[in-house]
Amino acid sequence: MFDRVFVNAVDADGNPLNLAVREGRFAAIGPERPAIGGAEVVDLAGHLVLPGFVDGHIHLDKSFVGDRWRPHRHVTSLRERLAIEKQELASAGPIVERADALIRQAASFGTIAMRSHVDVDATTGLTNLHAVMEAREKWRGVVDIELVAFPQAGVVSCPGTAEVLDAAAREGAQVVGGIDPTTLDGDADGQLDIVFGIAEKRGVKIDIHLHEPEQQGIDQLHRIASRTRAAGLNGRVSVSHAYGLGDVAPEVVDRIAAALAEAGVSIMTNAPGDRAFPPILQLRAAGVRVFTGNDNIQDAWWPYGNGDMLQRAMLVGYRSGFYTDEELGVALHMATEAGAAVLGKSGYGLKVGNEATFVVVKAPNAAAAVAAVPADRAIVRSGQFWGESSRVQFKVTAAGVGSAG
Ligand SMILES: [Zn+2]
Repeated sequence: MFDRVFVNAVDADGNPLNLAVREGRFAAIGPERPAIGGAEVVDLAGHLVLPGFVDGHIHLDKSFVGDRWRPHRHVTSLRERLAIEKQELASAGPIVERADALIRQAASFGTIAMRSHVDVDATTGLTNLHAVMEAREKWRGVVDIELVAFPQAGVVSCPGTAEVLDAAAREGAQVVGGIDPTTLDGDADGQLDIVFGIAEKRGVKIDIHLHEPEQQGIDQLHRIASRTRAAGLNGRVSVSHAYGLGDVAPEVVDRIAAALAEAGVSIMTNAPGDRAFPPILQLRAAGVRVFTGNDNIQDAWWPYGNGDMLQRAMLVGYRSGFYTDEELGVALHMATEAGAAVLGKSGYGLKVGNEATFVVVKAPNAAAAVAAVPADRAIVRSGQFWGESSRVQFKVTAAGVGSAG
């Protein structure tokens, strides 16, 4: 009655878990070993099973993964960083190849969905977007990739960008981006009018990079929350970074958190290494959805990262002072369920009827996996081992030779 049965695994809490698969979907999941019948049996040797990872914030067009290593260069301004980035990228391999290399690397760690911001401005036009779309096509059915038209150089301050953002949404970007409406554009309402206008006209979601500090960042979040409420975009607007939330007093966070929760605005943090960032538990307690992503990976912005969302969950926990199993579970939730909800990924997770896709990790439970980020893992997609090293670690009994019962 099943095609394949994965036995002797453990769930996030370390309890026994067995998974039966039929036609690529979960047909039974639970602590009891299902009737094997004539199914192939895979002994997962006590390893942990997790749902596939979701990278809620990546930049597939910027990374040098798949290209040569580029030593980081210090700058004194954002404009200088943008100029260096353009210069470095001009001598790098084609975007479609670098994006492909990074998607492959992320997939090999167990990522099954991602939201990629892609630079769009008046000079690059839709070139980067088209290249990332081409790379995405190759991974259709393996990694779901949602694209954000990202105005890296500003919107109002970069004439022509508004039209290109609109064109990107028309051509299939599912999300329209924004960036630091006050500090970069000097015209918060001007930028937000354009971004929310495109979202309403094209029916796309919104994800705004917000690095603005302290009260300035909080004011911007209030502006975004009230516009989200007014436009009826509950659940369709995200703010990435929202650094200001890490700068202000807890009672200020409480007030803005209530507004974000009511408006249905999600917050993405990658737990940056050198910057205060949002207090995750406080936001969640107020009902705000908080998710995570790798953001920049080995690019002109910073040299760190490899695309592994389990490592990102560890960094979120490490920087947040998460020690208990429950707290480590929060970091994992941000890299799985919360990201999947933001992306609107249907049929996600370890549930009967869903696609039988999961990650097997050599760890006794989810907390231990987040804390130690084991390299030993295997990826199962639609009930089949995926990738080169996945299958060798487990004992497989061919169909028909297992005993019934
Ligand atoms: Zn970013």
